[in-house]
Amino acid sequence: MTFCRDEQVWIPESDLEGMSVDTLAVRAGQIRTGQLEHSDPIFPTSSFVYGSAAQAAARFGGEEPGNIYSRFTNPTVQAFEGRIAAMEGGERAVATASGMAAILSTCMALLQSGDHVICSRGVFGTTNVLLQKYMARFGVETTFVNLTDMAQWRAAIRPETRMMFIETPSNPLCEIADMRALADLAHDNDALFVVDNCFCTPVLQRPFEHGADVVIHSATKYLDGQGRCIGGVVVGSDKLMEEVYGFLRSAGPTMSPFNAWVFLKGLETLPIRMRAHCDNALELALWLEQQPAVAEVFYAGLSSHPQHELAKQQQKGFGGVLSFRLKGGREEAWAFIDGTRMISITANLGDVKTTITHPATTTHGRLSPEDKAQAGITENLVRLSVGIEAVEDLKSDLERGFRALEK
Ligand SMILES: *Cc1c(COP(=O)(O)O)cnc(C)c1O
Repeated sequence: MTFCRDEQVWIPESDLEGMSVDTLAVRAGQIRTGQLEHSDPIFPTSSFVYGSAAQAAARFGGEEPGNIYSRFTNPTVQAFEGRIAAMEGGERAVATASGMAAILSTCMALLQSGDHVICSRGVFGTTNVLLQKYMARFGVETTFVNLTDMAQWRAAIRPETRMMFIETPSNPLCEIADMRALADLAHDNDALFVVDNCFCTPVLQRPFEHGADVVIHSATKYLDGQGRCIGGVVVGSDKLMEEVYGFLRSAGPTMSPFNAWVFLKGLETLPIRMRAHCDNALELALWLEQQPAVAEVFYAGLSSHPQHELAKQQQKGFGGVLSFRLKGGREEAWAFIDGTRMISITANLGDVKTTITHPATTTHGRLSPEDKAQAGITENLVRLSVGIEAVEDLKSDLERGFRALEK
Protein backbone atom coordinates (compact mmCIF):
# COMPACT_ATOMS: atom_id res chain seq x y z
CA MET A 1 0.00 0.00 0.00
CA THR A 2 1.45 3.33 -0.94
CA PHE A 3 1.63 6.06 1.62
CA CYS A 4 -0.21 9.20 0.78
CA ARG A 5 0.38 12.39 2.71
CA ASP A 6 -3.33 13.20 2.71
CA GLU A 7 -4.00 10.08 4.75
CA GLN A 8 -1.65 11.15 7.51
CA VAL A 9 -3.45 11.56 10.79
CA TRP A 10 -1.62 14.03 12.96
CA ILE A 11 -2.36 14.06 16.64
CA PRO A 12 -2.53 17.79 17.26
CA GLU A 13 -0.43 19.08 20.15
CA SER A 14 -3.42 21.08 21.40
CA ASP A 15 -5.15 17.84 22.43
CA LEU A 16 -2.48 17.59 25.11
CA GLU A 17 -2.69 21.24 26.16
CA GLY A 18 -1.94 21.70 29.84
CA MET A 19 -1.12 18.04 30.41
CA SER A 20 1.70 16.98 32.70
CA VAL A 21 5.15 15.95 31.60
CA ASP A 22 4.30 12.34 32.58
CA THR A 23 1.52 12.29 29.98
CA LEU A 24 3.54 14.16 27.35
CA ALA A 25 6.33 11.56 27.74
CA VAL A 26 3.91 8.85 26.61
CA ARG A 27 1.88 10.71 23.97
CA ALA A 28 3.32 13.98 22.66
CA GLY A 29 4.71 14.24 19.14
CA GLN A 30 3.29 11.02 17.73
CA ILE A 31 2.61 11.15 13.99
CA ARG A 32 0.15 8.45 12.89
CA THR A 33 0.09 7.18 9.32
CA GLY A 34 -2.93 5.99 7.32
CA GLN A 35 -2.40 2.53 8.88
CA LEU A 36 -3.56 3.98 12.21
CA GLU A 37 -0.87 2.11 14.13
CA HIS A 38 -1.02 2.53 17.90
CA SER A 39 2.76 2.50 18.54
CA ASP A 40 5.18 4.89 16.82
CA PRO A 41 6.33 3.62 13.39
CA ILE A 42 9.95 3.74 12.13
CA PHE A 43 10.73 5.29 8.75
CA PRO A 44 14.12 3.92 7.73
CA THR A 45 14.30 5.79 4.46
CA SER A 46 16.92 8.18 3.16
CA SER A 47 14.63 10.09 0.80
CA PHE A 48 10.95 10.74 0.06
CA VAL A 49 8.97 10.75 -3.18
CA TYR A 50 6.63 13.33 -4.72
CA GLY A 51 3.34 13.06 -6.59
CA SER A 52 4.63 15.25 -9.42
CA ALA A 53 7.59 17.29 -10.63
CA ALA A 54 5.70 20.41 -9.55
CA GLN A 55 5.35 19.04 -6.00
CA ALA A 56 9.06 18.22 -5.91
CA ALA A 57 9.82 21.79 -6.96
CA ALA A 58 7.46 23.18 -4.30
CA ARG A 59 9.10 21.05 -1.58
CA PHE A 60 12.60 22.09 -2.58
CA GLY A 61 11.53 25.71 -2.88
CA GLY A 62 10.09 25.63 0.62
CA GLU A 63 6.60 26.60 -0.61
CA GLU A 64 5.17 23.27 0.52
CA PRO A 65 6.14 21.70 3.85
CA GLY A 66 7.09 18.05 3.82
CA ASN A 67 9.96 15.60 3.83
CA ILE A 68 12.72 15.66 1.23
CA TYR A 69 15.69 13.79 2.61
CA SER A 70 16.45 12.31 6.05
CA ARG A 71 19.47 14.53 6.64
CA PHE A 72 16.86 17.33 6.76
CA THR A 73 13.77 15.74 8.29
CA ASN A 74 12.42 12.25 8.97
CA PRO A 75 9.01 11.47 10.51
CA THR A 76 10.38 9.23 13.29
CA VAL A 77 12.97 11.83 14.21
CA GLN A 78 10.28 14.54 14.09
CA ALA A 79 8.11 12.53 16.47
CA PHE A 80 11.01 12.37 18.94
CA GLU A 81 11.66 16.10 18.49
CA GLY A 82 7.98 16.91 19.06
CA ARG A 83 7.85 14.83 22.20
CA ILE A 84 10.96 16.24 23.84
CA ALA A 85 10.03 19.84 22.89
CA ALA A 86 6.63 19.37 24.55
CA MET A 87 8.20 17.85 27.65
CA GLU A 88 10.74 20.66 28.04
CA GLY A 89 8.16 23.33 27.23
CA GLY A 90 10.25 24.65 24.31
CA GLU A 91 8.95 25.78 20.92
CA ARG A 92 11.05 23.42 18.83
CA ALA A 93 13.60 20.63 19.20
CA VAL A 94 16.33 19.53 16.80
CA ALA A 95 17.61 15.96 17.23
CA THR A 96 21.29 15.17 16.69
CA ALA A 97 23.54 12.13 16.30
CA SER A 98 24.92 12.42 19.86
CA GLY A 99 24.94 14.69 22.87
CA MET A 100 28.25 16.13 21.67
CA ALA A 101 26.72 16.79 18.23
CA ALA A 102 23.97 18.73 20.04
CA ILE A 103 26.56 20.89 21.81
CA LEU A 104 28.67 21.33 18.66
CA SER A 105 25.61 22.26 16.57
CA THR A 106 24.53 24.81 19.18
CA CYS A 107 27.97 26.43 19.15
CA MET A 108 28.33 26.37 15.36
CA ALA A 109 24.85 27.76 14.78
CA LEU A 110 24.79 30.45 17.46
CA LEU A 111 28.41 31.65 17.78
CA GLN A 112 30.94 33.20 15.46
CA SER A 113 34.63 34.00 15.49
CA GLY A 114 35.42 36.63 18.11
CA ASP A 115 32.63 35.53 20.47
CA HIS A 116 33.34 34.59 24.07
CA VAL A 117 31.79 31.74 26.09
CA ILE A 118 31.66 31.28 29.86
CA CYS A 119 31.32 27.67 30.92
CA SER A 120 31.13 26.03 34.34
CA ARG A 121 34.07 23.85 35.37
CA GLY A 122 32.00 20.83 36.30
CA VAL A 123 30.75 20.07 32.76
CA PHE A 124 31.06 16.78 30.88
CA GLY A 125 34.77 16.30 30.04
CA THR A 126 34.29 16.24 26.26
CA THR A 127 32.34 19.51 26.37
CA ASN A 128 35.43 20.99 27.96
CA VAL A 129 37.63 19.59 25.15
CA LEU A 130 35.24 20.78 22.43
CA LEU A 131 35.31 24.35 23.73
CA GLN A 132 38.93 24.54 24.81
CA LYS A 133 40.56 22.74 21.89
CA TYR A 134 38.27 22.97 18.87
CA MET A 135 36.06 26.06 19.24
CA ALA A 136 39.19 28.01 20.25
CA ARG A 137 40.73 27.19 16.83
CA PHE A 138 37.87 29.07 15.19
CA GLY A 139 38.24 32.15 17.34
CA VAL A 140 35.73 31.35 20.08
CA GLU A 141 37.37 31.73 23.47
CA THR A 142 36.03 30.12 26.65
CA THR A 143 36.51 31.10 30.29
CA PHE A 144 35.83 28.36 32.86
CA VAL A 145 34.36 29.35 36.23
CA ASN A 146 33.01 27.59 39.30
CA LEU A 147 29.33 26.73 38.81
CA THR A 148 28.10 28.14 42.10
CA ASP A 149 30.34 31.21 42.41
CA MET A 150 28.34 34.18 41.03
CA ALA A 151 31.28 36.56 41.54
CA GLN A 152 33.39 34.47 39.14
CA TRP A 153 30.59 34.50 36.54
CA ARG A 154 30.24 38.29 36.83
CA ALA A 155 34.00 38.84 36.63
CA ALA A 156 34.26 36.67 33.49
CA ILE A 157 31.73 38.73 31.47
CA ARG A 158 33.24 40.60 28.49
CA PRO A 159 31.62 42.75 25.81
CA GLU A 160 32.03 39.74 23.42
CA THR A 161 30.38 37.23 25.76
CA ARG A 162 27.62 35.52 23.76
CA MET A 163 26.96 32.30 25.67
CA MET A 164 26.91 30.98 29.22
CA PHE A 165 26.90 27.18 29.41
CA ILE A 166 26.16 24.99 32.46
CA GLU A 167 25.11 21.58 33.70
CA THR A 168 23.13 21.33 36.92
CA PRO A 169 23.51 19.19 38.99
CA SER A 170 27.20 19.01 38.15
CA ASN A 171 29.05 15.78 37.46
CA PRO A 172 30.20 14.13 39.71
CA LEU A 173 29.89 16.39 42.78
CA CYS A 174 26.19 17.30 42.39
CA GLU A 175 26.62 21.07 42.78
CA ILE A 176 23.46 23.02 41.96
CA ALA A 177 23.45 26.19 39.83
CA ASP A 178 21.06 29.04 40.57
CA MET A 179 19.58 29.08 37.07
CA ARG A 180 17.50 32.26 37.50
CA ALA A 181 20.50 34.27 38.68
CA LEU A 182 22.66 33.01 35.80
CA ALA A 183 19.90 33.60 33.23
CA ASP A 184 19.50 37.21 34.44
CA LEU A 185 23.25 37.79 34.22
CA ALA A 186 23.35 36.33 30.69
CA HIS A 187 20.40 38.39 29.50
CA ASP A 188 21.70 41.63 31.03
CA ASN A 189 24.77 41.09 28.86
CA ASP A 190 23.08 40.00 25.64
CA ALA A 191 24.29 36.42 26.02
CA LEU A 192 22.41 33.14 25.62
CA PHE A 193 21.96 30.91 28.66
CA VAL A 194 22.42 27.26 27.67
CA VAL A 195 21.64 24.39 30.06
CA ASP A 196 22.70 20.77 29.51
CA ASN A 197 19.75 19.08 31.25
CA CYS A 198 21.05 15.54 30.86
CA PHE A 199 21.18 14.67 34.58
CA CYS A 200 17.64 15.75 35.48
CA THR A 201 15.68 15.32 32.23
CA PRO A 202 12.46 17.39 31.86
CA VAL A 203 10.79 15.02 34.33
CA LEU A 204 12.80 16.54 37.21
CA GLN A 205 13.78 19.98 35.91
CA ARG A 206 12.57 22.30 33.14
CA PRO A 207 15.27 24.96 32.62
CA PHE A 208 13.06 27.18 30.40
CA GLU A 209 11.00 27.91 33.54
CA HIS A 210 14.19 29.30 35.11
CA GLY A 211 15.25 31.51 32.20
CA ALA A 212 17.24 29.18 29.92
CA ASP A 213 17.33 30.03 26.19
CA VAL A 214 18.56 26.64 24.99
CA VAL A 215 18.27 23.20 26.60
CA ILE A 216 20.56 20.38 25.52
CA HIS A 217 20.42 16.63 26.12
CA SER A 218 22.58 13.66 25.59
CA ALA A 219 19.69 11.28 24.78
CA THR A 220 22.22 8.48 25.28
CA LYS A 221 21.67 8.71 29.04
CA TYR A 222 18.29 8.79 30.80
CA LEU A 223 16.15 9.50 27.70
CA ASP A 224 17.09 6.09 26.33
CA GLY A 225 17.66 4.78 29.84
CA GLN A 226 18.74 1.34 28.77
CA GLY A 227 22.16 2.00 27.25
CA ARG A 228 21.28 1.14 23.64
CA CYS A 229 21.77 4.18 21.40
CA ILE A 230 23.81 7.36 21.05
CA GLY A 231 21.84 10.54 20.39
CA GLY A 232 21.22 14.13 21.43
CA VAL A 233 18.79 17.00 21.10
CA VAL A 234 18.73 20.80 21.26
CA VAL A 235 15.54 22.63 22.35
CA GLY A 236 14.67 26.34 22.16
CA SER A 237 12.72 29.04 20.38
CA ASP A 238 11.72 28.62 16.71
CA LYS A 239 14.15 31.41 15.85
CA LEU A 240 17.20 29.85 17.53
CA MET A 241 16.32 26.31 16.44
CA GLU A 242 15.98 27.38 12.81
CA GLU A 243 19.69 28.29 13.02
CA VAL A 244 20.59 24.97 14.67
CA TYR A 245 18.51 23.08 12.10
CA GLY A 246 20.25 25.01 9.30
CA PHE A 247 23.65 23.92 10.59
CA LEU A 248 22.53 20.29 10.93
CA ARG A 249 21.03 20.24 7.44
CA SER A 250 24.34 21.49 6.01
CA ALA A 251 26.79 19.62 8.24
CA GLY A 252 24.87 16.38 8.73
CA PRO A 253 25.15 15.18 12.38
CA THR A 254 21.49 14.16 12.35
CA MET A 255 19.79 11.44 14.40
CA SER A 256 19.02 8.14 12.68
CA PRO A 257 15.35 7.09 12.49
CA PHE A 258 16.12 3.85 14.31
CA ASN A 259 17.71 5.69 17.22
CA ALA A 260 14.82 8.16 17.31
CA TRP A 261 12.42 5.24 17.61
CA VAL A 262 14.40 3.73 20.50
CA PHE A 263 14.39 7.12 22.25
CA LEU A 264 10.62 7.46 21.72
CA LYS A 265 10.17 4.12 23.47
CA GLY A 266 12.59 5.24 26.18
CA LEU A 267 10.68 8.47 26.82
CA GLU A 268 7.46 6.55 27.46
CA THR A 269 8.93 5.06 30.64
CA LEU A 270 11.11 8.05 31.58
CA PRO A 271 8.84 9.46 34.34
CA ILE A 272 8.53 6.16 36.22
CA ARG A 273 12.22 5.37 35.72
CA MET A 274 13.29 8.78 37.04
CA ARG A 275 11.20 8.31 40.17
CA ALA A 276 12.81 4.88 40.75
CA HIS A 277 16.32 6.32 40.16
CA CYS A 278 15.63 9.16 42.64
CA ASP A 279 14.20 6.86 45.33
CA ASN A 280 17.12 4.44 45.13
CA ALA A 281 19.75 7.20 45.00
CA LEU A 282 18.35 9.01 48.06
CA GLU A 283 18.19 5.80 50.06
CA LEU A 284 21.77 4.88 49.10
CA ALA A 285 23.04 8.41 49.84
CA LEU A 286 21.55 8.27 53.36
CA TRP A 287 22.97 4.77 53.87
CA LEU A 288 26.43 5.70 52.58
CA GLU A 289 26.55 8.65 55.02
CA GLN A 290 26.34 6.07 57.85
CA GLN A 291 29.24 3.94 56.62
CA PRO A 292 32.46 4.25 58.67
CA ALA A 293 34.69 3.96 55.55
CA VAL A 294 32.95 6.93 53.86
CA ALA A 295 34.32 10.43 54.44
CA GLU A 296 31.76 12.50 52.51
CA VAL A 297 28.66 11.97 50.32
CA PHE A 298 27.61 14.35 47.51
CA TYR A 299 23.90 14.26 46.67
CA ALA A 300 21.54 17.25 46.54
CA GLY A 301 18.80 15.22 48.26
CA LEU A 302 20.75 15.17 51.52
CA SER A 303 19.94 17.95 53.99
CA SER A 304 23.72 18.20 54.51
CA HIS A 305 24.08 19.39 50.88
CA PRO A 306 24.84 23.14 50.81
CA GLN A 307 22.28 23.78 48.03
CA HIS A 308 19.61 21.36 49.19
CA GLU A 309 16.98 24.15 49.36
CA LEU A 310 17.84 25.48 45.88
CA ALA A 311 17.66 21.95 44.47
CA LYS A 312 14.20 21.55 46.03
CA GLN A 313 13.04 24.78 44.33
CA GLN A 314 14.41 23.95 40.87
CA GLN A 315 13.98 20.18 40.73
CA LYS A 316 11.12 17.76 41.28
CA GLY A 317 13.61 15.11 42.43
CA PHE A 318 17.32 14.91 43.08
CA GLY A 319 18.32 12.54 40.29
CA GLY A 320 20.13 9.22 40.07
CA VAL A 321 23.79 10.26 40.26
CA LEU A 322 25.71 10.59 43.51
CA SER A 323 29.34 10.47 44.53
CA PHE A 324 31.27 9.92 47.72
CA ARG A 325 34.79 10.08 49.07
CA LEU A 326 36.19 7.03 50.78
CA LYS A 327 38.72 7.39 53.56
CA GLY A 328 42.05 6.86 51.76
CA GLY A 329 43.14 7.37 48.16
CA ARG A 330 43.18 5.66 44.77
CA GLU A 331 44.05 2.26 46.24
CA GLU A 332 40.96 2.26 48.46
CA ALA A 333 38.71 3.58 45.67
CA TRP A 334 39.84 0.90 43.22
CA ALA A 335 39.61 -1.87 45.85
CA PHE A 336 36.07 -0.78 46.66
CA ILE A 337 35.04 -0.70 42.97
CA ASP A 338 36.65 -4.09 42.28
CA GLY A 339 34.97 -5.54 45.39
CA THR A 340 31.47 -5.10 43.95
CA ARG A 341 30.12 -8.06 41.94
CA MET A 342 26.87 -6.90 40.38
CA ILE A 343 27.20 -3.16 39.74
CA SER A 344 28.77 -2.47 36.32
CA ILE A 345 32.20 -0.85 36.18
CA THR A 346 31.60 1.60 33.34
CA ALA A 347 31.64 5.33 32.77
CA ASN A 348 28.14 5.44 31.29
CA LEU A 349 25.32 6.88 33.36
CA GLY A 350 21.58 7.20 33.25
CA ASP A 351 21.03 3.48 32.75
CA VAL A 352 18.52 1.25 34.57
CA LYS A 353 21.60 -0.76 35.57
CA THR A 354 23.66 0.80 38.38
CA THR A 355 27.15 1.81 37.28
CA ILE A 356 30.26 2.64 39.31
CA THR A 357 33.10 4.90 38.15
CA HIS A 358 36.43 6.26 39.39
CA PRO A 359 36.25 9.79 37.90
CA ALA A 360 39.91 10.74 38.53
CA THR A 361 41.19 8.00 36.19
CA THR A 362 38.31 7.74 33.68
CA THR A 363 35.75 10.47 32.92
CA HIS A 364 37.95 13.25 34.32
CA GLY A 365 41.32 11.56 33.65
CA ARG A 366 42.26 14.05 30.93
CA LEU A 367 42.05 17.06 33.26
CA SER A 368 45.35 18.53 34.46
CA PRO A 369 46.16 18.01 38.17
CA GLU A 370 45.26 21.68 38.81
CA ASP A 371 41.93 21.38 37.00
CA LYS A 372 41.17 18.17 38.91
CA ALA A 373 41.91 19.90 42.19
CA GLN A 374 39.73 22.88 41.16
CA ALA A 375 36.88 20.53 40.25
CA GLY A 376 37.23 18.47 43.45
CA ILE A 377 38.04 15.26 41.56
CA THR A 378 40.15 13.54 44.22
CA GLU A 379 41.62 10.03 44.01
CA ASN A 380 39.27 8.74 46.73
CA LEU A 381 36.12 9.86 44.88
CA VAL A 382 33.69 7.22 43.58
CA ARG A 383 30.63 7.98 41.42
CA LEU A 384 27.48 5.90 41.30
CA SER A 385 24.81 6.24 38.66
CA VAL A 386 22.08 4.52 40.62
CA GLY A 387 19.84 2.20 38.61
CA ILE A 388 16.44 0.73 39.32
CA GLU A 389 17.47 -2.62 40.83
CA ALA A 390 16.15 -3.49 44.32
CA VAL A 391 17.91 -1.09 46.67
CA GLU A 392 18.62 -3.88 49.18
CA ASP A 393 20.56 -5.73 46.48
CA LEU A 394 22.53 -2.58 45.69
CA LYS A 395 23.43 -2.22 49.37
CA SER A 396 24.53 -5.89 49.51
CA ASP A 397 26.80 -5.37 46.52
CA LEU A 398 28.29 -2.15 47.93
CA GLU A 399 28.85 -4.02 51.23
CA ARG A 400 31.16 -6.34 49.26
CA GLY A 401 33.07 -3.21 48.30
CA PHE A 402 33.34 -2.16 51.95
CA ARG A 403 34.46 -5.69 52.94
CA ALA A 404 37.23 -5.49 50.30
CA LEU A 405 38.53 -2.41 52.16
CA GLU A 406 38.88 -4.35 55.41
CA LYS A 407 41.35 -6.78 53.82
C1 LIG B 1 27.27 12.01 28.01
C2 LIG B 1 27.07 13.45 28.14
C3 LIG B 1 27.24 14.31 27.05
C4 LIG B 1 27.68 13.82 25.68
O1 LIG B 1 26.71 13.00 25.11
P1 LIG B 1 27.04 11.84 24.03
O2 LIG B 1 25.70 11.34 23.70
O3 LIG B 1 27.94 10.86 24.72
O4 LIG B 1 27.73 12.51 22.90
C5 LIG B 1 27.00 15.66 27.23
N1 LIG B 1 26.63 16.14 28.44
C6 LIG B 1 26.48 15.34 29.51
C7 LIG B 1 26.05 15.94 30.81
C8 LIG B 1 26.70 13.98 29.41
O5 LIG B 1 26.55 13.19 30.49
